[in-house]
Amino acid sequence: GGFIPPIKSNGGNVGNVTSRIGGKCDDALDDSTKRCLDMLCGPDGELPEKLRNLEPRLIEHVSNEIMDRDPNVRWDDIAGLDHAKKCVTEMVIWPLLRPDIFKGCRSPGKGLLLFGPPGTGKTMIGKAIAGEAKATFFYISASSLTSKWIGEGEKLVRALFGVACCRQPAVIFVDEIDSLLSQRKSEGEHESSRRLKTQFLIEMEGFDSGSEQILLIGATNRPQELDEAARRRLTKRLYIPLPSSEARAWIIRNLLDKDGLFKLSKEEIETICNLTEGYSGSDMKNLVKDASMGPLREALRQGIEITKLEKEDMRPVTLQDFENALQEVRPSVSLNELGTYDEWNKQFGSLS
Ligand code: ADP
Repeated sequence: GGFIPPIKSNGGNVGNVTSRIGGKCDDALDDSTKRCLDMLCGPDGELPEKLRNLEPRLIEHVSNEIMDRDPNVRWDDIAGLDHAKKCVTEMVIWPLLRPDIFKGCRSPGKGLLLFGPPGTGKTMIGKAIAGEAKATFFYISASSLTSKWIGEGEKLVRALFGVACCRQPAVIFVDEIDSLLSQRKSEGEHESSRRLKTQFLIEMEGFDSGSEQILLIGATNRPQELDEAARRRLTKRLYIPLPSSEARAWIIRNLLDKDGLFKLSKEEIETICNLTEGYSGSDMKNLVKDASMGPLREALRQGIEITKLEKEDMRPVTLQDFENALQEVRPSVSLNELGTYDEWNKQFGSLS
């Protein structure tokens, strides 16, 4: 079917807002789309200006797939990164909570870049920011805009910023932002990806100057690919490094404790931490997962059937389990990559 722009409803009648879309009747949209548009209507029962000329299915996609009502990450779930947490609290959480105080000289930047190796907690920080600032969280991977939404990325970006505008305060998290705002202008850069980039920068510009309570967070493992325009928009740039030895210990304890499996001594934890130099937070999680399979595998080896297995049949997770797991789970970041981050941080990072 052709594109049907959602237009304003007969005032006040919120439940029936889409009943007269472009002169057509309700049947043009299915129930879930209607419900979704209804929820975005203002008290006057009208769809906000920004959303009126967008395709309902894109608005629905943003509301259902990109918007996350309950990101469910707290600061306390994130190991280490005390410095980043402190900066973020001051730079973005307070301003989102108290826009009245953070104006004029104190007005914050509306763009934050989190850069560093993969699996170090950048997405977690984004979610935690939304949680702590009681903001709506929007997550999109920039590479999906170019791969999955071929030719429609621009429209989706408009829908994204439009819905965020209706859901303030809002945090828009753009993963792999380098693939959207990269400086590479090889012949590989198509017209469409240039338009997408332009649209994105326009949208950012739009709320940058205004009083909107929208924060854009970009995350990247390849900060060196960002061009000058992108850097200018992302005024705060925080390095999110690999976890320290203490942070790694914390991740192990935290994950095992949750399942009541933690029985390791201080010395054993220390040994594991020494063996996991260079592991990311995500690597640590995979390591703990693998190690925690040890007791289960052993019980099954002893002939107990999986269906008859009782919790008591399994011993606690041991250092040996971790040593075995270390053979399987290798660090995903190479040490020479780290140098690049340090360099970029020195040149462009905030508060290095
Ligand atoms: P990134 O966005 O930096 O690639 P994520 O935030 O998606 O990484 O982290 C992936 C997973 O790794 C998380 O869900 C979490 O289980 C674990 N993890 C990574 N960093 C940390 C950390 N600092 N503290 C606790 N868990 C972490």
